[in-house]
This record gives sequence, C-alpha cells and structure tokens, in this order.
Amino acid sequence: MKKIIRGGTVVNARETTRGDVLIDGETVIAVGQIGDVEGAEVIDATGCYLLPGLIDNHTHMSMPFGGTTTADDYNTGTQAAAAGGVTAIVDFALQIAPGGLQSSLDEWMGRAEGAAHVDYSFHMAITRSDEGTFKDMPKLVDQGISSFKVFLAYKDVLMITDDIFLRILEESKEHGGLVQVHAENGWIIDRLVTEALGRGDTAPVWHALTRPEWVEAEATSRAVRFAEQADAPVFIVHVSCQASAEEIIAGRARGVAAYGETCIQYLFADITDLERPAPEGARFVCSPPLRDASNQDFMWDALKFGHLQSISTDHCPFDDPQKALGADDFSKIPNGLAAIQHRLPLMWEHGVKEGRISMNRLVDVCSTAIAKQFGMPTKGAISAGMDADIVIFDPKQPFTFSTETSFMNVSYDLWDGKTVAGSVRSTLCRGTVVFDKGEIKTQPGHGKFLKRIPFDVARQGDVA
Ligand SMILES: [Zn+2]
Repeated sequence: MKKIIRGGTVVNARETTRGDVLIDGETVIAVGQIGDVEGAEVIDATGCYLLPGLIDNHTHMSMPFGGTTTADDYNTGTQAAAAGGVTAIVDFALQIAPGGLQSSLDEWMGRAEGAAHVDYSFHMAITRSDEGTFKDMPKLVDQGISSFKVFLAYKDVLMITDDIFLRILEESKEHGGLVQVHAENGWIIDRLVTEALGRGDTAPVWHALTRPEWVEAEATSRAVRFAEQADAPVFIVHVSCQASAEEIIAGRARGVAAYGETCIQYLFADITDLERPAPEGARFVCSPPLRDASNQDFMWDALKFGHLQSISTDHCPFDDPQKALGADDFSKIPNGLAAIQHRLPLMWEHGVKEGRISMNRLVDVCSTAIAKQFGMPTKGAISAGMDADIVIFDPKQPFTFSTETSFMNVSYDLWDGKTVAGSVRSTLCRGTVVFDKGEIKTQPGHGKFLKRIPFDVARQGDVA
C-alpha cells in the first residue's frame, strides 16, 4: 500500500525542503516533487511541517518503584507518545533478579509484547553484580540491547558501587555498549534526607533541597572521570543544571566520549512548582529534582551548541493517590513526571517560536541525535530508505494542555490550562497512521521491538 503526503515542508536535522513524501508499506521511498502514483492514498499536509517521528529514549512504563508501579503501561503510554509525535521509545528494563540480566529482560519484553502502538526497545539497568551479569552483557548487545544503565543514587535499592560501575564501563566498551548514568551521589542524599526528616521538614520541596546541584555535579564528574579511565563512552541521563552540564563539557574538552541529555521538565518547570499546594507539589517530584530557574538559559544554550546532545522526557507517571504515599514524608513520594506527550508542543513554542533553537535543531535533539546515539539507523530522518515515521505538525492549530487532550494515564496535566500555537495533527509509525486529529487509530501491538546496533563512537561526530 502506497501513501503520498502532499504539500508539507519536510524538516530534517540537516535541512528544510518543500516536497511530497512517498511511502511504500513501512518505508519512505522518495521525497520531492512526486507526480500521480496509481492507487496511492493521498494525505494532504498543506501548511504543515513534516518531522521525523520523535524518539523518546528515556521512559518508564509499567515500572515498579517505591512500592507502586508507574501509571502508564505500554498500551496507554505509547498512545500518549503517538499523540505527542513520538514513534519510538527506549524504555528501561531493570535487573530484578540475581543471576544475570536475561530473565529480567524477558520479563520486560513480555510486558511490552502486543501492547505498544509505537516501536520500542529497552536499555538494561544493572542493579547488582555477579558473574552472570557480566556474562549476559554481550548476549544482550547481540539481541539489540546495546545500552546499559547504572544508578549512582537510590542507595540500597538500585545504586551500584564505584568498583562495579568501573567494571561495567570496561565490559560494556568491550561489547559495543553505551553506559548511561543516573548521576547523583546516593550516600550524601541519604544523609541530607535523614537530617531534613529529623527536623520535621517533610514537604515536597525538601525532595529538591536534599538533592542539591553539587550532589549531581559530583556524581557527573565521577562518571566522566571513570569513563575517561576506562576509555569507554558514557551518557549522562537527565542532566538538570548548569553545574552538572559543565562536568560533561569539561570531559568532552579533554576528549572523553561523554554525552548527555536534559529533559523537558528542567526547561519548563522549576523548584517553585514543588511549593504548589497539595496535591500539585508532589506531581513535580522527580530525580534529579527541578532546579532554580536560573539554570534554564544555560540548558537551552547547551542544547543549542551541542554540549548536550538530546532531550527526552523521563516519562515516569504516578497518579495523585500514588504520589500521596508521601503526603507526610517527601522521601516516600514516588519519583517521576507524566510528560511523554508534551515534548514537541513545548519545544516548538519555547524553542523554535521564541528563537532559541531552529526547527532543524529541534529535530536533531528530539530524534536524529537519539537515533545515532542509541543505534537506530532506520530512524531519525525523512529520506528514501528510512522507516516512514512521520509527524504532521500544524504550526497554526493551537494545543491546550488539559486532561481532555492528554492520553497519559493520570488524572492531571502538569501544564493544565496552558495553550501553545502548534499541535500534532497526525503521527505515522512505519507508514501506519497511529494518531490522527485527536484519535488513536491503531490497536495495541502495532509497535514492534526495535533491535538496536552497537554504539559507534566515530559516528557521533557526524553532522546530523
Ligand atoms: Zn528515568
């Protein structure tokens, strides 16, 4: 089945062109002036931009955390993804059993199988070490799981120690993997939390005040130094502040293969949101925490100049009753924000429209760079031979954030009431319309597991 998307403007990371897009089955076969094609379905995109499907490399669906489970599963979460122009996610599988990684991966594969509307893959988070763990790492890379994650925070739950961290970097490099790091110092956080609770400081804002910027910057610095020592690539997830980003910049200047992302909440929310009256404040609890707004100009510049390479959402939704587990104790509030649907409208409004980044740069940081970093060579651009993952974005059709327009499985929207100028009209994943004018058109299971290729440090220098 062929489709032609006519009349739009194609925005890739490298260039912007007027042209039609011809799709055959799941693949783009031509971009440019395309005449009549017999039997092809025509989609009119006059006045719209055509962007490569966004990729969200940082999501947590159906994930157990703090005695509860994230509110979106692979069905609801990927509906919200598609409504926000996202055509692929890379979710986190957590090592939950001793004796290796495979059984945990199988568990997560089972959760997603037949449920997702857009394509999906996993990073494997290593939370304990045994010889089985190290033996499984190359086997996972062979199965298309070419990225791992470690936590330097969440002591006694997910945190690993420095000796294991260094070994993971060494093993991962050997097998073509990329190690991602949650960079906060778990030891220091535990001390600050204990002190705060001892004083009776229990409100949500203390979540942020007990995880100060220097605690993130220190762990980031450590991660970059370890990567330097192991001569291994490292990717710092959810960089929240200038102090932490500067550690990555310093490492890159020394030649370390250090990369980093930020997340939309660090650009579009700040520490004062945690002071909102209950239940709102708890909705903004995530780690690293929301920072003082004075960081935001620097974070925009870091994206603009490539000091940070990409932006994700760290979608990790919990509804109000789950957040209320910490009503009397901020340390018991499940960490995470509901955000997967909102990256494109927010980045367009405040990035492109306000002149902070170009629309090409938006495509790069939300899709193209992510495809390159996480080994998805058929994603991240609209060109012949690539997967037909396409967002039809209407810059003149406003979008209002609300529980009415949100597909995320929580009873609130963090930006409720805000209106922006542009919106996602349709989202195609491998040639199939998943989302169109406010409705999901696919059944669960349209999304397929995405086998990713090993990390290639040389390719990271490519211009888009
Ligand atoms: Zn996360």
